[in-house]
Amino acid sequence: MKIRKAQRVVSGQPATDGAGVELVRVIGQPALMDLDPFLLLDAFRSDDPDDYIAGFPPHPHRGFETVTYLLNGRMRHRDNAGNEGVIEPGGIQWMTAGKGIVHSEMPEQQDGLLEGFQLWINLPASHKMTTPAYQEFGQADIPTESRDGAEIKVITGTTAQGTQGPVKQPLTDPLYLDVRLEPGAGFDEAIDEGHAAFLYVVDGVISVEDESGGPLQLGRDQLAVLGTGDSIQLHAEDGSARFLLIAGKPLHEPVARGGPFVMNTADEVRQAFSDYQRGNF
Ligand code: MN
Repeated sequence: MKIRKAQRVVSGQPATDGAGVELVRVIGQPALMDLDPFLLLDAFRSDDPDDYIAGFPPHPHRGFETVTYLLNGRMRHRDNAGNEGVIEPGGIQWMTAGKGIVHSEMPEQQDGLLEGFQLWINLPASHKMTTPAYQEFGQADIPTESRDGAEIKVITGTTAQGTQGPVKQPLTDPLYLDVRLEPGAGFDEAIDEGHAAFLYVVDGVISVEDESGGPLQLGRDQLAVLGTGDSIQLHAEDGSARFLLIAGKPLHEPVARGGPFVMNTADEVRQAFSDYQRGNF
């Protein structure tokens, strides 16, 4: 067994996206442009409608997946293929944009708390132009594993105790856990060796070993990139804590970004803009 250590720590940065949504950009900012296969991680949490009400009006995506996980509030999703639905608290929408969709993501509320995350996961060159698809699950469909002092929601992947998340994505074989710890509680979990992995703290303070062997404390909106190994060990400090543990298989392919399109070459990004402008999505 080799325990992964925190290799580097990144603090989320305030950003504005969509039609003026205030959020915290954690991956996809200068301190961490990507963590193959992860291209972007945004966190949003506000009870001020001015921060979120403008939402994300129609916009395209091509070449990767967007994963929206809501803790509080509701978001309505609509796309140009006629798919429509509302993501509810505790619900997940795993959208494979593939060859292209145009969609809107709008708050389904006028006030109150809106809190959640959007993660972008890359697709390999062989699947960037795949047919768009959705995997959508409500809170009741996402299993919770209870341990001593810990509750673990398993969105995708399988825990060491065998709890399996409902989302399937063999291309990047992701693990996506939402973990809540009681004060002082410990947490151990297996992580596939060779997969990129990170912790992102949602609430409270967790303590994890860094590469010098010392304890490293991570607080809200901090992300730790985990080094090599096959497992993780950490604990909550004095208060309760909540964090996401996310891992996936790196693609080791060139990444060409153009706003809402992520392809392998600049030519493919140009083609995406051209296809979109011609209404070919
Ligand atoms: Mn979008």
